[in-house]
Amino acid sequence: MDPTALYADDAEEDLGRLECCRPRSGLFRLLDNRFLPPPVKVKGTLDDLVLDEGGQFLNLPVNLALRLSASLKDFLQRPYDYSCPTVKLRLSSRTCKTCGLYHASVKALNRHIENIHKKVNTAH
Ligand SMILES: [Zn+2]
Repeated sequence: MDPTALYADDAEEDLGRLECCRPRSGLFRLLDNRFLPPPVKVKGTLDDLVLDEGGQFLNLPVNLALRLSASLKDFLQRPYDYSCPTVKLRLSSRTCKTCGLYHASVKALNRHIENIHKKVNTAH
């Protein structure tokens, strides 16, 4: 067995890992915490743009620039899926009842509760 083959495989694996993690564009310079902002619908008034469910979706650069947000009852922050009609009915079941943080799945919510709230409760 050629010992250099192992090193070559390791180096290739490391290179693959780096390629996977390296951004392929400058988009991450614009994003907070590498997350896309939730899509929002806006409507133009005489002198401003305001959030309006009957309005039109903003494109990403404008959404990033304006950072429009409104407090929503029962949510810590606007859920990414808030405007998705197929998920809208599941928003409350995926939201932490303790802190209001939305999760993309019930599994992620349960992991959040287990890791954040149960640890806090057992720490006392
Ligand atoms: Zn929580």
